[in-house]
Amino acid sequence: MEKVNVLIIGSGPAGYTAAIYAARAGLTPVVYTGGQPGGQLTTTNDVENFPGYPDGINGPQMMIDLQKQAERFGTKVNYGLVTSVDFSGYPLKVVIDEKDTVLAEAVIVATGASAKYLGIPSEEKFANRGVSACAVCDGYFYRGKEVAVVGAGDSAAEESTYLSKLCTKVHLIVRRDEMRASKIMQQRVLNTPNIEIHWNTETDEILGDESGVTGVRLLDNKTGNKREISVRGFFLAIGHKPNTDIFKGQLTMDEAGYVKVVSGSTRTNVEGVFAVGDVADRVYRQAITAAGSGCMGALDAEKFLAAKEAEVVH
Ligand code: NDP
Repeated sequence: MEKVNVLIIGSGPAGYTAAIYAARAGLTPVVYTGGQPGGQLTTTNDVENFPGYPDGINGPQMMIDLQKQAERFGTKVNYGLVTSVDFSGYPLKVVIDEKDTVLAEAVIVATGASAKYLGIPSEEKFANRGVSACAVCDGYFYRGKEVAVVGAGDSAAEESTYLSKLCTKVHLIVRRDEMRASKIMQQRVLNTPNIEIHWNTETDEILGDESGVTGVRLLDNKTGNKREISVRGFFLAIGHKPNTDIFKGQLTMDEAGYVKVVSGSTRTNVEGVFAVGDVADRVYRQAITAAGSGCMGALDAEKFLAAKEAEVVH
């Protein structure tokens, strides 16, 4: 059975920043990347708000750089998915790909969050055949076509703007009469002539045939009227769900499934387990705050391990 000092679950900005700090502290961390190496930033285009990049940086490139930086100080990066954990004893047990158990002295949970879906049957029916939760990944397939985006936050604004450059027209489906997105991103949407915003509108059904998505039936939630628009792509941008299913019953979570940490720290209810980044943050959810909390997680783990070692010596 493999034994590791610090095991980091997840490879977004939080996981890799934790790895950089832990590696530089001589803790020889091991990162398990999860199913989406590099995390959510690999599905984004330009990151313009990460300090230190006056001209912005491409999200996937940023994650490659973070991985390199972590590896430079001795982090071992393994491509594998943590499928279950057992935090009832010590050392902490983590199972990779349902078969290999790893024993860890400390675990840093940095599993982030995943895109939410509306939950209507047609969404599943047309998954990967016109329905997508990632404009940057799939937008290229819809160049020269009309598409719809649902949502009203920064993701919806960003994805609509991105798609407007590839597609003839973008229909932005907003369920209220205002957007939650930051003012600057809303302005970009409003100033883009080929984005049409459908206010007070919900998705009644995604329409299609064997070729994939062909349209969307919209519901005006003020009048109850329904109407159809013709689109080939349907993009979801309605927020995220924390990736915490494997920790149910072991780590304390809030009602939305975010891991609860002791205020001002990254400590969870289990000794030696720390939670960093979006998995423990339903408020800020930024690359920079995730990176900052990754740093805190590594420092908390280092302190924990030093105290453990001191216990053994005495
Ligand atoms: P948010 O939670 O901010 O927004 C989700 C949006 O989806 C809301 O407008 C919500 O509507 C809408 N929504 C939720 N459920 C439904 C539904 N069933 N039907 C229709 N609409 C629905 O998520 P985001 O992913 O946009 O952003 C998450 C965080 O990431 C934010 O902090 C954001 O600032 C940040 N971010 C930053 C970016 C950047 O700076 N480059 C880019 C992308 C995200 P309602 O408003 O009515 O609740």
